[in-house]
Order: sequence, then structure tokens, then C-alpha cells
Amino acid sequence: MTDNIGYIHSILTGGTLDGPGVRYVIFMQMCPFRCIYCHNPDTWFKNSLGAKTVDAVYNDILRYKNFFNFTGGGVTLSGGEPLLQENFTLNLFKKLKNINVHTCLDTCGYIELNDKIKDIISLSDLIMLDIKHLDQDTHLKLTGKDNIKVLKFLDFLHLNNKKTRIRQVLIPNYTTSDLYIDKLIEYLDKYRKIIEKVELLPYHKMGIEKWQKLGLTYQLNVDEPEKELVQYIKNKFIKNGYDII
Ligand code: SF4
Repeated sequence: MTDNIGYIHSILTGGTLDGPGVRYVIFMQMCPFRCIYCHNPDTWFKNSLGAKTVDAVYNDILRYKNFFNFTGGGVTLSGGEPLLQENFTLNLFKKLKNINVHTCLDTCGYIELNDKIKDIISLSDLIMLDIKHLDQDTHLKLTGKDNIKVLKFLDFLHLNNKKTRIRQVLIPNYTTSDLYIDKLIEYLDKYRKIIEKVELLPYHKMGIEKWQKLGLTYQLNVDEPEKELVQYIKNKFIKNGYDII
């Protein structure tokens, strides 16, 4: 039965930011990364307080099915990292696809591509993949891990023609320079046929209080990006033919 238990941080029932339409968003516990700008460090650690069965979550989701139909919405599994709880994610997505609910997987892509993970990808109508950084050393500095698995994950999505939304957090001094953005646009070009949208998320400091509450030291010392800079970067993607958020 443990296959059917999910350790859940929180659930948002009217989400509009994590995929198309109005969504039931499940934020799972645990993450392989320790991003120095993470706004949800309280998802990093496993605890049984939010443990729920697949059936319990599924039955709750059924209450919102009409909203999904009206708005083109569905269910998003986010986190933390939902692929660290592959059995729960797989079993829930199987049930949702049986009743034709749109499924979206919000992932950092840092995972071995075993058969279960491949099945989850095949049951996902949309993958939202975070690119933290293209440069290995900077990726390591930002997340605590390298980006090899993440880039392989993107290759796998491409190979399987999987609709993908790329997410990039815009962090001054790290991911906002012309050099970096041009490199990212160039890198993404070969994946263009699967990229549905590019979502550019301005770095913000709203998570700092959570770090303090958890007794963690927040190490990133940069300002939030100016609106003009964010728009400038968005324009670069638009000029290159991307639909951006
Ligand atoms: S991948 Fe997301 S949840 Fe995990 S540490 Fe990074 S920002 Fe936080």
C-alpha cells in the first residue's frame, strides 16, 4: 500500500499559474535540489503530516472536474519534486487519464529515466521543466547538483515529442545577462518543436522568511530584477518566435 501514499506539502484547488486553465495543484514533499533562491524550502523535507493515499486525492479531485472542463484546466503535480515519489505520481496520473483529466508535471528533471518515470512522462499532457542554468559550475552553485540529468531529461522529452513548457528563473548576475539569454535561446532551438511556451519567472525574495523559520541561512545576495530587464529578456524570446509567459 505504500505505493499509493504520497507525502504532500500542500494543495491549491484554484491554481492558475501552474499550467493551462484552472488547476488542482499538488505540491509534493522532497526535492533533489537545494536551490539557493528556493521559495519553498519547507518542501525539502519529508514528514508524514501531509501523507495521503492516491484514492483520497483522486476523490477530492473529482469534486473539481467541472471546473477543469469549463476552463481547459486539470491537475498539476509540482513540488518539491513529484518524480521523487514516482509510485504515487504514476498511480494518480493513471487514474486521471482514465477519466480524461489534463495532467501536467512540474519538474526539475533531475531523475534517472527508469520505466516508471518514462510511464509518468507518457501520461503527462504537459511537462513544465525548470532550466536552472546551462553552465555546469553555475548549476552546481545554484542547486547543489550538476545539470547532466536535467539536459538528458529534456533530450528524452524531445525524442518522445512531449509538449513542454520551459521555465527559467531570471536571477540578476546569474541568468539575466545577454550572454546567458542568447546561449539559452540558441540551446533551446533544437527543442523548438516540443516547446509550447517559455515561462520567464523574475527572481523574488518572498521565500526568505521561510528559510529563517527553518533555521537555514539564505545565501543569495542579489536584487530582484527590474521590470524593464524582465521585459527586455521577454522581447528577446518573442523576437525568436517563442510564446512567452
Ligand atoms: S527545484 Fe524548486 S523546490 Fe527544489 S530546491 Fe529548487 S526551487 Fe526549491
